[in-house]
Amino acid sequence: MRFVEEYRDAKLGKRLVERIHRRSRKPARLMEFCGGHTATIVRHGIRQLLPPNIEMLSGPGCPVCVTAVADLDKAIAMARLPGVIVTTFGDMLKVPGSYSSLQQVKAEGGDVRIVYSTQDALDIARSNSAKSVVFIGIGFETTAPTIAASILEAEQEKIDNYYVLSLHKLCPPVVKALLDSGEVMLDGIVCPGHVSAVIGSQPYEFIPQDYSIACVVSGFEPLDVLLCIDMLVAQIEGGKSLVEIAYRRSVTHEGNRQALKIMERVFEPCDANWRGIGTIAESGLKLRDGYASFDAERAFDIELEPPREPKGCICGDILRGVKTPPDCKLFRHACRPEHPVGPCMVSPEGSCSIYCHYGAAGGR
Ligand code: SF4
Repeated sequence: MRFVEEYRDAKLGKRLVERIHRRSRKPARLMEFCGGHTATIVRHGIRQLLPPNIEMLSGPGCPVCVTAVADLDKAIAMARLPGVIVTTFGDMLKVPGSYSSLQQVKAEGGDVRIVYSTQDALDIARSNSAKSVVFIGIGFETTAPTIAASILEAEQEKIDNYYVLSLHKLCPPVVKALLDSGEVMLDGIVCPGHVSAVIGSQPYEFIPQDYSIACVVSGFEPLDVLLCIDMLVAQIEGGKSLVEIAYRRSVTHEGNRQALKIMERVFEPCDANWRGIGTIAESGLKLRDGYASFDAERAFDIELEPPREPKGCICGDILRGVKTPPDCKLFRHACRPEHPVGPCMVSPEGSCSIYCHYGAAGGR
């Protein structure tokens, strides 16, 4: 297949759905760990197409949503510093911190700029040499290599006013933390597509080995997700647990070695704080000592008030898969896309925003 429409072919989709219905007998609880998959599942009504014994849950796969409020407060505090330009991807702007948001600081005169890539942030640093330019580095293993590359570029060009606030998160440690918590019992995992394009499928092998849970890496089109579910059902019905790939056009067993090399050169694993989950050992990335001069955490001395979660918001429970957006009393009332109370309503990969845009019926 070469064109996106082919991955949305209704006839092929119908055949896959029929095969899932024929195969699936046992109760199966599956979790997707990527907000992109949540969007595909809800947008295309995939839950409603599945037999009632298959339950789909959403996990902590939205990078904006899993950013702890204390880390967000740090970014907001940096935007208030004189002589600092904060650059960020757009979906961070409206996320409420404890006391403010980047959007509010911008409205109050702070220099906060939306960028579409780290190249934009580097360009801003090049043309504002008298100012410090901080890039808010959020995301999983997908975005970390390009951010690492921007630091290498800044080093090569001797750009000394470019900093990264590294709030990156790693996917396999959060999967392990969630499974160890025992809060949600799973039979299968829809492994993330973009993350796996970088890290490969190999890092998930501990899941079948240690937890006997089926794993299949999925792409983002409806046929990708249906094929992934079909492969998971085949494993579950056959009493097997393996790591398989249903997204071979982008994902290999060993991942993208070049991207991993760049990421590992600049970053090293560190403990990280996840919204709704807490601190998970070695689940984040910090800049190695050799790149300390680009580290916003070390460059700016920030004092923060104790963090405060938005009142009434259950994003943490939603990110752990124990609740869904309609369980939140504020959903579609006090919290709406134009007036978000929590991060899950801001990001296009956030469950609340997805349910709001494509209909809560998607959350059977
Ligand atoms: Fe938080 Fe709003 Fe979602 Fe409720 S609906 S969990 S307040 S983001």
